[in-house]
Amino acid sequence: MTHTTLTKKRILITGAAGFLGSHLCDFFIEKDFHVIGMDNLITGDLKNISHLFSLHNFEFHHHDVTTFVHVPGTLDYILHFASPASPIDYLKIPIETLKVGALGTHNLLGLAKEKGARILVASTSEVYGDPLVHPQTEDYNGNVSPVGPRGVYDEAKRFMESITMAYHRFHGLETRIVRIFNTYGPRMRLNDGRVVPAFMGQVLRGEDLTVFGDGSQTRSFCYISDQVAGIYSLLMSDYADPVNIGNPHETTILEFAQEIQRLSGTDQKIVFKPLPQDDPLQRKPDISLAKKVLDWTPKVSREEGIVKVFDYFKSLPLEELNAKAHRDFK
Ligand code: UDP
Repeated sequence: MTHTTLTKKRILITGAAGFLGSHLCDFFIEKDFHVIGMDNLITGDLKNISHLFSLHNFEFHHHDVTTFVHVPGTLDYILHFASPASPIDYLKIPIETLKVGALGTHNLLGLAKEKGARILVASTSEVYGDPLVHPQTEDYNGNVSPVGPRGVYDEAKRFMESITMAYHRFHGLETRIVRIFNTYGPRMRLNDGRVVPAFMGQVLRGEDLTVFGDGSQTRSFCYISDQVAGIYSLLMSDYADPVNIGNPHETTILEFAQEIQRLSGTDQKIVFKPLPQDDPLQRKPDISLAKKVLDWTPKVSREEGIVKVFDYFKSLPLEELNAKAHRDFK
């Protein structure tokens, strides 16, 4: 081990080969950390981090965090971002989703305690379920069906928050909880079913845009660089209670489909499909707390972000664009 390796801050990022995880790897490499990426590659893809493999301050561990996690050497920080995150993923692999939120979080909290590391866990706006309070503030306790199809994700993340606070209170562990609202950007899987890659893939393949329900449900989309900046500020803060990070610029899904049509200049039709069960009717983060304690606000407008992601999807090889079938999980 060289002297420089010893002096760099060391961070473990789980879910490193996923959308958020891979951007976090890039960010911390840029900040000159030693980054240890971990992923079981169920929904992640090594091509998201292959550009880091030759760097001396990056290493990758192919590991499932629901089993005991061992990392040699010291650790200063842990970011737990391993989890299926798209509704069709967690409906297809519900048990894995529950396990990574519950058992995975437990293992990583244990590792953080052992190493004396600060840990930040990736929670979600889904802890608010189909919210009856709008916009959602951190003190709202949510409206989640524990036995509904989305319960496997929502309750795993709610358990994640509970066990994280228990380690904080009982063991004095330094913990941070970010509640992530719909985030989009390059490296989302075109076929992961979420609305941004779904609409963009449809436009690029010349297909109709599928709006679920009547499209009156709302979401608020945050660009990846804003999300990463918010996560970094939270990690470096001394704030242990959950913090919403998202962009409060709300849109209905129908308006969003029309915006995609307008920005892409296509004349493909919008078609309506059944609304999935328990699909939240409205979602918009109240980010007053993040503004106050982190001095953070999102910077990238939706229009700007959409153009960037379109450019990314356009740059993908044709076979990837046409690979519509949802991937089979191992
Ligand atoms: N949606 C849609 N068409 C699609 C995919 C999604 O209308 O092809 C809707 C979905 O029903 C939801 C919203 O877009 O109301 C956002 O869905 P997504 O799966 O991206 O994430 P969610 O916010 O529901 O977790």
